[in-house]
Amino acid sequence: MGDRSLFGSAEVGGFRFMQALVVDDSAVYRKLIGDHLRSWGFGVTLAETGSDAWRILEQPDAPKLVLLDWVLPDLDGIELCKRIRQAGASGPYVYVILLTSKEGRQNMLQAMEAGADDFLVKPVDELEMKARLLVGKRILDLQEELVSARESMRHAATHDSLTGLLNRGEILSMFQRELERGCRERAPVGAILCDIDHFKNVNDTLGHLFGDEALREIGRRLQSELRIYDGVGRYGGEEFLMILPNCDLPNTMMRANELRKIVASTPVLCSGVERLITMSMGVAVSAGDGKNELEALLNQADAGLYAAKEKGRNRVEHFTPAVRKAAAGRARKG
Ligand code: GH3
Ligand code: MG
Ligand code: MG
Repeated sequence: MGDRSLFGSAEVGGFRFMQALVVDDSAVYRKLIGDHLRSWGFGVTLAETGSDAWRILEQPDAPKLVLLDWVLPDLDGIELCKRIRQAGASGPYVYVILLTSKEGRQNMLQAMEAGADDFLVKPVDELEMKARLLVGKRILDLQEELVSARESMRHAATHDSLTGLLNRGEILSMFQRELERGCRERAPVGAILCDIDHFKNVNDTLGHLFGDEALREIGRRLQSELRIYDGVGRYGGEEFLMILPNCDLPNTMMRANELRKIVASTPVLCSGVERLITMSMGVAVSAGDGKNELEALLNQADAGLYAAKEKGRNRVEHFTPAVRKAAAGRARKG
């Protein structure tokens, strides 16, 4: 009766869909605690021994709330607490309530030192247990918010907010990593630098919002063509950089031409307005033997891109010494 007056009805209880693990070698206690938890909306997993509980906790998506008897036949509650905390750094937080007899109460400091968050004395009082569970749930909810805030900060620091692609810093880090791996494994790394043709005119004639949508749509098209180990990032305003590990020059040229066609074949549509958009691309491929190749390869891809623009746009060019000469001429002219 106190249950309803203190916490509201079980149907609207805040524990719905939360998973709890009850570890007790006594069948009577497992049933008693399990029944209470279920009536409050928990999903319940039962374990009879410490090692059974550990196997369950090692699974992905294991319960994050554990009611754990202190005395267990094999791995006792204290040992299990220590293991949970040792493993804890790599996974989500597990909230542990240790159950003990009246005589075990004086050892509670030891339990807390081992990593327990709270304790309950057997025989367990129903209301007290529910109150402690509310505290546990609050801590776990806060923990989840913290983890998701950290994840969104990490995402914001590494991704471009308009297109959702990797940002310049991240795609360059990936390029560097792949060059180092390519060097170790004697494998080539292809790079494609893409630049939208006449994009200023797109903005000028159709507006900046259309331009933004075009950047997003082109980002999606480039990403849809990636293999699992490829990467694409927004390199600058209307420039994208693609990194293709283990791709030699003929293959990188082929992939670049496929991407170019995918962009050029279907108009970009925004608010009922359509516009065909094309891209020019410069390709450079590492030889797989250099140490400070990144800057040189970016320069080569840029020279290829310049040649593609010069030759009429909507095309792919790769670096050759002649291309370098043309790009150097452009740099001299400023
Ligand atoms: P080219 O074919 O020689 O590359 O010509 P272009 O007009 O694409 O090149 P230019 O460098 O003159 O212009 C690039 C334009 O890209 C200018 C700039 O306003 C636009 N741009 C860069 N970033 C964004 C963005 O985030 N959103 C929008 N809408 N436009 C952008
Ligand atoms: Mg540009
Ligand atoms: Mg451009």
